[in-house]
Amino acid sequence: MITVLTGGTGGAKFVDGLRQIVPPDDLTIIVNTGDDLQWWGLYVSPDIDSIIYMLAGKLSQERGWGVKGDTFFCLNAMGQLGQPIWFNTGDRDLATHIVRSKLLSDGKSLSEVTVEIATKLGVTTRVLPMSDSRVETRVLTPIGELSFEEYFVQRWYQDPVESVRFAGASDAEPAPGVIDAIRSSDLVLLAPSNPVTSIAPILAVPGIREALRESRARIAAVSPIVRRAAVSGPAGILMAAQGFEVSIRGVADFYRDFLDLLVVDSQDEMSAEALRQTGMRVHCTPTIMRHREDRIALAESTLHAAMQPPAQTSQELA
Ligand code: GDP
Repeated sequence: MITVLTGGTGGAKFVDGLRQIVPPDDLTIIVNTGDDLQWWGLYVSPDIDSIIYMLAGKLSQERGWGVKGDTFFCLNAMGQLGQPIWFNTGDRDLATHIVRSKLLSDGKSLSEVTVEIATKLGVTTRVLPMSDSRVETRVLTPIGELSFEEYFVQRWYQDPVESVRFAGASDAEPAPGVIDAIRSSDLVLLAPSNPVTSIAPILAVPGIREALRESRARIAAVSPIVRRAAVSGPAGILMAAQGFEVSIRGVADFYRDFLDLLVVDSQDEMSAEALRQTGMRVHCTPTIMRHREDRIALAESTLHAAMQPPAQTSQELA
């Protein structure tokens, strides 16, 4: 059994690699919901959608979000009607948001709704939201507090970041199945997702970080930071704002209380050696996922390294 903790972009690419080498029944995906938002009166869960679309083979590879080949007639019509259009929702994507919102207003939980949508799209891998309660990532900037999507999509992450918090986290509970999945897995993988806004909201739900610390599972993370910068997006800016070094060491520090292995890019071999001196197990391999083959190779290399006895270093593996 393998459980993955993930956001929506780097995470979806990593999950794409995994799904091609791990049977669907052996995989559970726990997804960040801190980016969820109300949009045109609908409940949108961007990371869950990216993961489900990826597993269903529907994710747009060019954009990295939304449905492959989607059209944007509704978005244009909403613009003509004077509605905000900064959050791009394609027409087919919109159907998912309408169904999710309808099922939620019928009284179903986010996890029930997620199962229903995934099943209808032919996904057999278990996809769980981190929580059925609302936990909202809030980014404090000089112009005030923004939701993650306002900060990232509407304002192109141009505002200086003072801090990040997860509103509602202290009262939230893990969604059904989350703790069991972590406890009963042989391996827990943290996707190369943004540590601050994709993985930290999951860890902020009471009980999840503790379950990771106590789990008998091996726990491995893939670094979203390569050569002291995020591969894409604001992970570097946000890590620095939270007081972490923007480097593989910063990623290791972020997860140090429960991590058994950090998978880093081959370009970071020198820094990896320094990190090993601090007692962290580090495995170097190409982690940039441009093509299908890169994704599969990273998934294979991560699984292989994670299942080795702890004393074996990646140099011995090579
Ligand atoms: P979000 O929910 O859309 O923010 O998506 P994630 O948090 O899952 O993914 C964003 C993170 O993925 C960023 O921090 C990137 O640095 C990282 N990332 C994106 N593509 C790659 C890749 O090909 N390789 C690695 N190692 N990291 C990546």
